[in-house]
Amino acid sequence: MTSPYLNPDLHSHSVVSDGTLTPEVLAARARANGVDLWALTDHDEVGGQHRAAAAARAQGMAYLCGTEISVSFAGETVHIVGLGFDPDDAALAQGLAATRGGREQRAREMAAQLAAHGIAGAFEGALRYVGNPDLISRTHFARFLVEAGVCRDTPEVFRKYLIEGKPGYVPHRWAALGDAVRWITGAGGVAVIAHPARYRLTANEEYALFSEFRAHGGQAVEVVTGSHTSAEYARYASMAQEFGLAASRGSDFHSPEESSYDLGCLPRQPAGLAAVWELLAARIQHPV
Ligand code: AMP
Ligand code: MN
Ligand code: MN
Ligand code: MN
Repeated sequence: MTSPYLNPDLHSHSVVSDGTLTPEVLAARARANGVDLWALTDHDEVGGQHRAAAAARAQGMAYLCGTEISVSFAGETVHIVGLGFDPDDAALAQGLAATRGGREQRAREMAAQLAAHGIAGAFEGALRYVGNPDLISRTHFARFLVEAGVCRDTPEVFRKYLIEGKPGYVPHRWAALGDAVRWITGAGGVAVIAHPARYRLTANEEYALFSEFRAHGGQAVEVVTGSHTSAEYARYASMAQEFGLAASRGSDFHSPEESSYDLGCLPRQPAGLAAVWELLAARIQHPV
C-alpha cells in the first residue's frame, strides 16, 4: 500500500530544547506549510510531546512522538532521532535525563573559556535564551554571542567559537549508541540516524556507525533533511538501501531567523525508498 502522507516533517525543535517557537506555534506553522505528518524532536527531551500531539490534533494534522538523542561515537557527536515511541516510557525518560545531566556544568566551562577570551557573562547571557533550564545548549550561547555583537549570525559563532578546536568548545560525553537505540525501541519507537552527512567520520567510521546502529536495532536514516545537499540525498538514499534502512525526512527547523528550511519545505523523498512513516503506521496519532 502506498503511504497517504505527501509532506511528512519528522525533525523539528521547540523552546523545550533549542528552538525559538512553542510546540503550539510550530504545529500551526507546519499545518500552514502543508505538513500532513509532523514530529517535534527536541534534543534529549520529551517534555513537549503531549503539548505537541494536542496541538497537532487541534490543527487536524497527524503526529508521531519524537526526540533527538545526543550520542558519542568515534569521538564525534552523532544524533539519533527517535520516532513513534511512548512518551511516558520510564526507561526512556531515565536515559534522557541522564543524557541531559552535565549540560549545566559543560555550559559553565564554556562560559569560563569564553571569559578567558574576553567575552564576559556568557553563561547568564545564554540562560536568557533558554526555555528549559535542563537543556542549555551551544545554540543558546550562539544567540547570546550574536546579541552581544561578537558575531553576525549563529553559523559564524559556531565556526569561530563553538566547534572543536575553538575557544568556547568543551568536549562532552553523551549517551552510547546502543543505549540510545534501545531507549527508543524499548519504548515502541523506531531509531533513525539524523543528518548523517554532518558528521566528521572517516569512511570506515561511517560504515561502523551504520552497521552498529543496525545491529542494535536501528531501522532508519534521514535522507532528505535541512542539513543535506541534493548530492547527499542521493548518497544516503543508496546507503539506506545498502544497509536495509527505511528513510526519514525532516527540516530540522529551529527558528524562522536561523533555519535554512522551513517546516514542510523540503524536496520529496527519492523514489524507491522504504519510508519510516510506513514502518510507524500503527504509531501515528490521527486527528479525530
Ligand atoms: P549541543 O547539543 O549543545 O552541542 O548543541 C548542538 C546544536 O547546535 C545543534 O542541535 C544545532 O542546533 C546547533 N548547531 C550545531 N552546529 C551548528 C552550526 N555549525 N551552525 C549553527 N548551529 C549549529
Ligand atoms: Mn539543535
Ligand atoms: Mn541534530
Ligand atoms: Mn535537530
